[in-house]
Amino acid sequence: MQRIVVAGGGTAGWMAAAAIARTMGRTVSVTLVESDAIGTVGVGESTIPPLVTYNRLLGINEAEFMRATQATFKLGILFDNWKVDGERYFHSFGFTGKDHWSAGFQHFWMYGRSKGHAQSYDDYCLELAAAMAGKFAHLPDDRVNYAYQLDSGLYARFLRQMAEKDGVTRAEGRIGRVELDGESGNIAALHLDNGTRIAGDLFLDCTGFRALLIEGALHAGYDDWTHWLPCDSAIALQTPNVRPPVPYTRAMAHDAGWQWRIPLQHRTGNGIVYCSRYLDHDAALERLLGNIEGEPLTPPNKIRFQTGARRKQWHRNCVAIGLSGGFMEPLESTSIHLIQRAVLRVIRMMPARGRVSERDIAEFNDQQFQDMEQIRDFLILHYKATDRRDSPFWRQCAAMDVPDSLTQKIELFRETGRVFRRNDELFAENSWVQVMMGQGIEPQSWHPIAEKLTDDELDRTLARIREDVQRTVAGLPAHADYVARYCGAT
Ligand code: FAD
Repeated sequence: MQRIVVAGGGTAGWMAAAAIARTMGRTVSVTLVESDAIGTVGVGESTIPPLVTYNRLLGINEAEFMRATQATFKLGILFDNWKVDGERYFHSFGFTGKDHWSAGFQHFWMYGRSKGHAQSYDDYCLELAAAMAGKFAHLPDDRVNYAYQLDSGLYARFLRQMAEKDGVTRAEGRIGRVELDGESGNIAALHLDNGTRIAGDLFLDCTGFRALLIEGALHAGYDDWTHWLPCDSAIALQTPNVRPPVPYTRAMAHDAGWQWRIPLQHRTGNGIVYCSRYLDHDAALERLLGNIEGEPLTPPNKIRFQTGARRKQWHRNCVAIGLSGGFMEPLESTSIHLIQRAVLRVIRMMPARGRVSERDIAEFNDQQFQDMEQIRDFLILHYKATDRRDSPFWRQCAAMDVPDSLTQKIELFRETGRVFRRNDELFAENSWVQVMMGQGIEPQSWHPIAEKLTDDELDRTLARIREDVQRTVAGLPAHADYVARYCGAT
C-alpha cells in the first residue's frame, strides 16, 4: 500500500484526504496530521460551479452537504464601483444569449444595439436575471449553472467525517520537524512535538501560508505577483443576516482595494481586501465596520498575504495544495477551486508503487501553473481595465504593465469583440465578455455573420431569448425559500 501523508487539516487537507481515500480505496493508506492549537485560516466562503461536480464525484448528497456547511446557492458576483465609483456589473455563471459556432452572442447583441435594440446585454442571461430577482431553483438538464456560498471550515469538518469513515487516520499534533532522506532528498517522515513519527511515500503540504514542507523543508521558491495584484491584507468578520440571503456574492471596490459580502444560511461573511501601502489596518477596519449590515458576530480576523505562486507546486515527493501552493485574492472565488484541481490531478498522476515519476511532476507543475496564470490574468483585468483615477491605488493599477497574454486578450476584444478560450481555461468566453464589458471595454466591431440576419430575424431572435429568460425567472421560487425547503428535505 502506498502511504499518503497529508500535512494540515484545513479545507485543502480534508478535500485532499477525502477525495483520495474515496477514489483510491484500499490501494493507499492516508494519514492526516493537523494541529487544533494552530487552527486554520478561518475564511473562504464563495465558490465557483466546478465544486458541484467535485461533490458529485465524491458521491456527496447535496442537501446534506448544504445543511452541514450552511450553504446557499450562488449564481455569480455583483461588482460595484470597479469601472467607476457608482457603477456596477454582474459576472454570472450562466451563458448569455445564444451564439453561433463562429461568433459569441455579444456580436449579435452589438449588431442589435446598432439597430436600435436598447436592452442590456444582461437581459439575455437566465442566471443573472434570477440572481437580481433573488430567485433560484434546480431546473431540468442542469439548465441553471450555480455554485455555493458556504463555510469552508464546516466543509472541512463534513469531509473529515466522510474521510474517517473511508479509513483516513487523523493524527493530532504540531509538526515540529520534517525529516529528509539523506540520499534522495525526499521527505521521509514528519515528526510531531508529541514524539510521533509519521513516515510516508507521498506528502501533501496543506499547511496553509506556512508551507512547512514544500518551502520550509524543500525550498521550492515563490513567484511574487504583487506588482500585478498589489493588495496584501484582508480583515474578515461575520454579521447576522438582516435580510434573506441572496444567491450572489458582492465585491465592492473602494479606493485602495475592495470588500466582499457573502450571505450563507445563518450569517453573512464580510471582509475588506486592501493594499497596505495606501490604507492602514485601522482605517481599513473602520471602513469595513462602516459598510456592514448588523453588529459583528466575530472579532476581526486580520490576514496578511503575498500574492503569487510556489515555483514548484510538486517537488520531489511533496505536492503543495491550498494556500501552501500560492494565493490570489478571492475576487473571483478561485482558491478552493485550485485545491480541487490539484487534488484531482494528484489522483490522476498517483505514483505507481510509490515511485514518483519526474514526467508526472513536470506535467503537474505545468498544468497547475497554467491554471494559476490564467486566473491571475483574469483577476488583473478587474484592476487594469478601469476608468477609476480617484486614488493613488487606482492610478497605479491603471498605469501598470500587465502580462502580454492579458494585453492580447484585451486588445483583441477591443478591436474585434472576440474572445478565445485556450488550453482548457477555467473562465469561459462569456465570463471574459461580461467582465470586459463591465469594466468598460467597448469592442469597435462585431463579427460580420451577425449581419446575415434580416432585421426581422434579429428582432425575433433577441425577443425570444429575452422572453424565455423573463418567463423562466418568473416561475422560480425565492432563493431563501428554496434553500430552506431543499435543505429541510432529506
Ligand atoms: P489553512 O486553512 O490555513 O489550513 C492549514 C492547516 O495546516 C491547519 O489545519 C493547520 O492547523 C495546519 N498546520 C499548519 N502548521 C502546522 C504544523 N506545524 N503542525 C500541524 N499542523 C499544521 N477561497 C475561496 O475559494 N473562496 C473565498 O471566498 C475565499 N476567501 C478568502 C479570503 C481570504 C482573506 C483568504 C486569505 C483566503 C480566502 N480563500 C477563499 C482561500 C481559502 O480560505 C483557502 O484556500 C482554504 O481555506 C484552504 O486553506 P488551507 O487548507 O490551504 O490552509
